[in-house]
Amino acid sequence: MNDLHTTDVAIVGAGPAGLALAAALAQAGLRCTVLEQNSAESLVAPPEDGRDIALTHRARAILERLGHWDRLPADEIAPLKRALVRNGASPLVLPFDGQADGHEALGFLVPNHRLREAAYAAAAATPGVEIVGDARVTALQRDEQAATVRLADGRAWRAPLVVAADSRFSTTRRLGGIGAHMLDFGRTCIVVRMRHEEDHENTAHECFRYGNTLAILPMAGRQSSAVVTLKSDQAPEWMALSDEAFALRVEEHFDRRLGRMDVAAPRHAYPLVAAYATRFVGPRFALVGDAAVGMHPVTAHGYNFGLYGVEVLARELARAARDRRDLGDAAVLAGYEREHRMRTLPIYLGTNAIVRLFTDDTPPAKLVRGAVLKAASVAAPLRTLIARQLTGGVRRSAPA
Ligand SMILES: Cc1cc2nc3c(=O)[nH]c(=O)nc-3n(C[C@H](O)[C@H](O)[C@H](O)COP(=O)(O)OP(=O)(O)OC[C@H]3O[C@@H](n4cnc5c(N)ncnc54)[C@H](O)[C@@H]3O)c2cc1C
Repeated sequence: MNDLHTTDVAIVGAGPAGLALAAALAQAGLRCTVLEQNSAESLVAPPEDGRDIALTHRARAILERLGHWDRLPADEIAPLKRALVRNGASPLVLPFDGQADGHEALGFLVPNHRLREAAYAAAAATPGVEIVGDARVTALQRDEQAATVRLADGRAWRAPLVVAADSRFSTTRRLGGIGAHMLDFGRTCIVVRMRHEEDHENTAHECFRYGNTLAILPMAGRQSSAVVTLKSDQAPEWMALSDEAFALRVEEHFDRRLGRMDVAAPRHAYPLVAAYATRFVGPRFALVGDAAVGMHPVTAHGYNFGLYGVEVLARELARAARDRRDLGDAAVLAGYEREHRMRTLPIYLGTNAIVRLFTDDTPPAKLVRGAVLKAASVAAPLRTLIARQLTGGVRRSAPA
């Protein structure tokens, strides 16, 4: 097979970021082709993957504009009203809520497979979007006029611009000659949906214990997503536990705040590696989603950043198309690079610093952990700043 196709933008990867970009560009009148290594059937109804994604108000607004939000099952969206942070056995609890920005909720929790399902359905229903399954990109070439991506099976797509949305371990990023700062935390997070006796009151708990971290994130109904982060060499033992033994451990580590807990779905393990691309754009080339910024999940920014990036890149490309400019022009892409880097870099670095501090169990680090939480608990402006990051910085004006 050696057929050559053409499109306005070729997007590599039909994850939630690639599909969101496709819908956004098609809304702006551009033709785009999404090339995905997995089969098209696997995208239609992705299986539960254990991830429960915390979305900000800003991310929700973007999903609404893209037509994803209305496709999410309403009874699987859980508002996140409060977040409580605990440190070791300390009685000090650091609370966050969305009130500072006039919101009743900090954000919303949605199962990742539902987001992926909605992203596929919306993109597939948008005229101008072509989604090609069984399409593994293995080569990228660029010349003055266009960029060409080639698949393992010989098919090729030529476009003024190629966008890599193929995960934090992006092959296309490497093919495009862009490096990334990769940070392997040596930790793995195990995620699983659990049922429990008591009402979670839409409150998330982040418990920085000694030895491991436990997050309990409220899902719809009397269910929560349990996220256990631990040294990677300990993960196999936790994964091998029976459901009953696993549930008992989580219940005990959580001091039975939700009463009896039961495992309600298969467990999934994710090794934690953060990635930050050295550049987000190159000649006729751009990165979105985790391929640009792959976050540690503790501050729940990953897909939110993916959506913010999609919004900015789509805006720049729509403007270029209106002005009949070349979509791969360096000046067109520069605006995206500047804005997305400014928005994400401080939080990427801050998140990694928090992770390092709160997973360091040496006595000096324990002291600093306590001092940091104590300072944050008395410094209301600092808490407001953090809460604003969690809501996405969208202020809701007071009703007239
Ligand atoms: C445990 C956990 C919890 C998380 N919690 C949150 C949260 O609370 N809030 C939040 O905002 N984010 C969260 N995230 C992050 C979020 O899941 C990611 O940011 C998001 O899924 C990334 O989407 P993506 O489309 O960029 O990449 P991916 O979902 O990785 O998709 C990449 C796609 O590219 C395809 N692909 C790869 N290589 C090729 C190739 N060569 N050719 C063709 N296709 C290819 C893959 O098959 C895949 O479909 C969490 C992540 C984890 C692991």
